[in-house]
Amino acid sequence: MSATRPRARAADSTDVHDALTAALDASLDFLGSLEQRPVGATVDAGTLRARLDGALPTEGTDAAQVVRELVAAVEGGLLASTGGRFFGWVIGGTLPAAVAADWLTSVWDNNAALSSTSPAAAVVEEVAGQWLKALFDLPPHASVGLVSGCQMAHFTCLAAARHAVLARHGWDVAEQGCWGAPPVRVLCTRERHGAIDRALRFLGFGRSDVTALDPDGDWERALRDSAPTIVVLQAGEINTGAFDPFERLIPLATQRGAWVHVDGAFGLWAAASPRYRHLLRGVDAADSWATDGHKWLNTPFDCGYAFVADPAAHRAAMAFHASYITHATTTRDEMDWNPEWSRRARGFPTYAALRQLGRRGVADLIERCCRHAHTLVTEIGRLPGAECLAEPILNQGLVRFIDPHGREHDRRTDAVIAEINRTGEAFFTGTTWRGQRAMRVSVCSWRTSDDDVQRAIDCVRSVLATR
Ligand SMILES: *Cc1c(COP(=O)(O)O)cnc(C)c1O
Repeated sequence: MSATRPRARAADSTDVHDALTAALDASLDFLGSLEQRPVGATVDAGTLRARLDGALPTEGTDAAQVVRELVAAVEGGLLASTGGRFFGWVIGGTLPAAVAADWLTSVWDNNAALSSTSPAAAVVEEVAGQWLKALFDLPPHASVGLVSGCQMAHFTCLAAARHAVLARHGWDVAEQGCWGAPPVRVLCTRERHGAIDRALRFLGFGRSDVTALDPDGDWERALRDSAPTIVVLQAGEINTGAFDPFERLIPLATQRGAWVHVDGAFGLWAAASPRYRHLLRGVDAADSWATDGHKWLNTPFDCGYAFVADPAAHRAAMAFHASYITHATTTRDEMDWNPEWSRRARGFPTYAALRQLGRRGVADLIERCCRHAHTLVTEIGRLPGAECLAEPILNQGLVRFIDPHGREHDRRTDAVIAEINRTGEAFFTGTTWRGQRAMRVSVCSWRTSDDDVQRAIDCVRSVLATR
């Protein structure tokens, strides 16, 4: 007995060492090859399934071998979306300190539900939350929830909104539920992100509860009666980066007793830049704000932030107290501020990213990405066979490709995007904007360099020349 125990421990630590070493080698290979590897996937789902999809193994496999075989099996099926020539959707890269801290988050494996399940995670979240509020110039008393992404930040903030607007009409949603409550209406801008609709659906709102208006529409009229109302505005529209007129709409809505929530998934980051923060003028008067870390801050995925100006409403919507839980008295318990129970200590990568960059580094990152987006959209838009549809206000913009033989511009645009992506030199995605297909250009990676931008433009030029 006593002779086997130390040996078992030694074998364990060899396993850990070998598995993590295999992961470190594979990590460095992957990150080191970003300049050369195709940006898009090079194998299809059938190939991946054939490599991965045997019967559930009966016997286990050596840990390091599992890691090495996984790395080999997914080769060609990963996007180099963390690299510098990925401009699809709105997807950031990962800063070195953030990815390293994220790795340690897994190694430490602390449950960031309560301060008693990880005092360090609780304090790091507190500090990261304070830093984020300072960076975004949000009210210092606002409460913060770290969630898995902006959609869940919407869910968190809109749950607080639902609580607050119903409480103002004498209804306790935590006690009485939604059914039978005074109807809550939602006023949104028309070109909102689908994550708003999904978050609303999870909270019991249907499509018919939502009214869409143009930013310059008749909001006075829409807000005339005193029904419980949630207004959802946008900082950074995904196609053009447009900002709603906060200075006009927020005071109007709050005077009528509405709750104003702001979708700032990437647009809230404009606050970090002296050059772009004017786009957010008046946004601090809102009731809640949602944004992402995994997009523009360049933390790994699983990182969004919810801010609520009224901590009591935030807490009322999220907190839970059970007798077996040790609740903190001096540190906050994270589970009071987000919808999860057991959860990843996602404060660590946020803290690491903010420390690596500092205020100045975040401003540089934002401004650099905006400059690159502007160059990409205007230079591609000037190529023969291309047209600029929306010059970036921030880091997002649109171009399309013109059918030289007729009027099939939509089909031509999709075909050119597919062809660009097939080259492996750059990666873009399509969108439908005001009834026409377009190629969206999104720049939110710290890695994107002048050279990457030039390579992407050259790639589009040569695709257009050969088609
Ligand atoms: C990405 C995005 C969302 C959704 O955020 P997730 O982090 O993917 O949940 C919401 N709104 C806007 C404007 C976005 O760009």
